[in-house]
Amino acid sequence: MTLPPHQDAPPADDTRALVELVPLGPVNLLAYQVVAANLQTLMGLPTDTYPIIPMPEGAYMAARRQYDAVRIIQSLAARQPGAAICLGITAADVGTPILTYVFGESQLGGRVALVSLYRLSAEGEEQTLKRLTKVSMHEIGHTLGLGHCWEPHCLMRSPRNIEQLDDMELDFCESCTYEIARRVHRLASQAH
Ligand SMILES: [Zn+2]
Ligand SMILES: [Zn+2]
Repeated sequence: MTLPPHQDAPPADDTRALVELVPLGPVNLLAYQVVAANLQTLMGLPTDTYPIIPMPEGAYMAARRQYDAVRIIQSLAARQPGAAICLGITAADVGTPILTYVFGESQLGGRVALVSLYRLSAEGEEQTLKRLTKVSMHEIGHTLGLGHCWEPHCLMRSPRNIEQLDDMELDFCESCTYEIARRVHRLASQAH
């Protein structure tokens, strides 16, 4: 008798995760399922989801009632790596010592990126998740070494506000698409 493949079976070697999605504090399950699916489909990045971890100690900036994105990224970077890229997701408000708030933050050409749902909520959940996906893809683009792009609708454009984020396509311009594909391919070959 042949058993059907179990849904939770570990991925085969050729789909080894290149991104680990790590929720910091409680995050809507649908949110990281949607991000994981889009990273796979739109960027060719197999993604594993991880159990929730608490916010790192010392990351809370009481005077601003916000978490420090830089401290969170440092703490994620110190974890034992499970994949080439680590994307933290939080529902909490995050900022940096310089910026009053950020949608996301990342290490340029590094391993760690962070996205926050806090400033992305829209009237409809679909729009909220689309925004989250855009910011996730943008920040992962930075970890792959891409800088900001001047093409108005490219996802590597730096959105100054939520309206600009909404104005961006869920896609990269031709030249960013090429660069991302090249770098993802290199990551995938290193992972084997
Ligand atoms: Zn950016
Ligand atoms: Zn571009």
